[in-house]
Amino acid sequence: MKTLITGVAGFLGSHLLRDLLAKGKHVIGIDNLSTGRLAHIEEVRHHPHFHFIHFDVSDPDVLQLDSLLDVSEIYHLASPASPKFYQNDPFATIAVNTIGTKHMLELAKMNHAKLLYASTSEAYGDPVMHPQPEEYRGNVNTWGPRACYDEAKRLGEVLCYEYYQRFGVQVKVARIFNTYSAGLRNDDGRVISNFVNQALTGAAITVYGDGKQTRSFCYVDDNIRALQLMMEKKVATGEIINIGNPQEYEILEVARMVKEMCQSTSEITFHPLPKDDPRVRRPVIEKAKLLLDWKPQIHLEEGLRRTIKAYREQRVERVQS
Ligand code: NAD
Ligand code: UDP
Repeated sequence: MKTLITGVAGFLGSHLLRDLLAKGKHVIGIDNLSTGRLAHIEEVRHHPHFHFIHFDVSDPDVLQLDSLLDVSEIYHLASPASPKFYQNDPFATIAVNTIGTKHMLELAKMNHAKLLYASTSEAYGDPVMHPQPEEYRGNVNTWGPRACYDEAKRLGEVLCYEYYQRFGVQVKVARIFNTYSAGLRNDDGRVISNFVNQALTGAAITVYGDGKQTRSFCYVDDNIRALQLMMEKKVATGEIINIGNPQEYEILEVARMVKEMCQSTSEITFHPLPKDDPRVRRPVIEKAKLLLDWKPQIHLEEGLRRTIKAYREQRVERVQS
């Protein structure tokens, strides 16, 4: 029995891959390498239990791939996640979360496989209810630059619902809140990778808006553990579950923390807030605690310490090679 990861060469996909292989699983990974990089999976590329397929899951021919015929678990993670990248190609973002999700649901139906869909806290848009429980229906603007991601993810959830209701496909929907660690591309554009890279290189730390907007950051190991628990546990079938760390920080506070922890001389500079940037975000995780017996274990300070250390080492390696 094999596990399929779509988006395997991305940030979450590559971390999940390494963890599953370490646990002895056989994994097939698909990626079109739009935002992902082969370098992210280089060290396990030729692992005997791993098979990589360079393919686009929005292409209907994905259902003709023979090697997918014996998958029993599907982690459908394929989709750009950084606002910079998902806004760069909105049609591909819409396609992978709708058409691509439908293809993966069809595959799950054919194989009687379980499917976990990586949805997002962006499904809540710029939330009016704070913090956000799964029942909150959200406040998304359809007429703006984030809609291609937010609304496509929401439609992806609808497709999961219909395949669950009509065909009994064992779906699980993770609404993932901001997740970080080393392993994001340097040009990914998300806040932690930007701030750490800027602080380590002495470049200005770019805070958007007044920095009073909040986010709640989850370290990647906690996220990967939760996704696997969702896949394993029957009680998570047919459920939407928030996966995130409920510790909430203002972005300016994060900029100051990163600067201090890097012992950086970088200046903190302020730039216009992107349109529709959510003002607050924080998950209610009672459902994850109850159904998965999961809660995050890694505090932001510890996660940042690990992240900064890894970025520092990468920089030294790059300079030496
Ligand atoms: P990422 O951009 O690092 O990785 C996404 C991967 O999907 C990339 O390797 C990319 O090349 C691949 N991909 C994109 N379109 C594809 C297609 N059509 N066919 C095949 N592969 C395709 O992003 P990430 O941070 O690893 O996010 C993974 C998933 O988790 C995404 O679905 C994202 O929406 C969701 N998510 C992530 C976060 C987070 O904080 N990291 C938060 C909420 C939701
Ligand atoms: N942000 C910032 N400076 C940056 C990158 C991001 O101030 O260099 C802010 C961004 O405006 C948002 C928050 O940090 O309020 C998180 O942004 P990110 O792109 O990481 O993810 P989002 O939660 O917006 O999808």
